Amino acid sequence: MGKEGFTPMCPRCAHESISKLAGSPVAGAWEVLQCQRCLYTWRTTEPDRRTKRDSYPEAFKMTQADIDNAPEVPAIPALRGRG
Ligand SMILES: [Zn+2]
Repeated sequence: MGKEGFTPMCPRCAHESISKLAGSPVAGAWEVLQCQRCLYTWRTTEPDRRTKRDSYPEAFKMTQADIDNAPEVPAIPALRGRG
């Protein structure tokens, strides 16, 4: 076994169940990964702020609590003035 040095982790919610959606034609060039919890999807060649938990903007990080409390369907604002 080689030393990988890469533990897949969702940059947004820190979940470690990551699936590979796609890979580049040139093996190892890049992969498209998706978090199985929050469904965040990213390509491995994107900047650290989009691919690494440590660099991901604090404002956009999610916790388990955020996910548990998130409504399943975004509310659609009612139309105004058409009553
Ligand atoms: Zn996630």
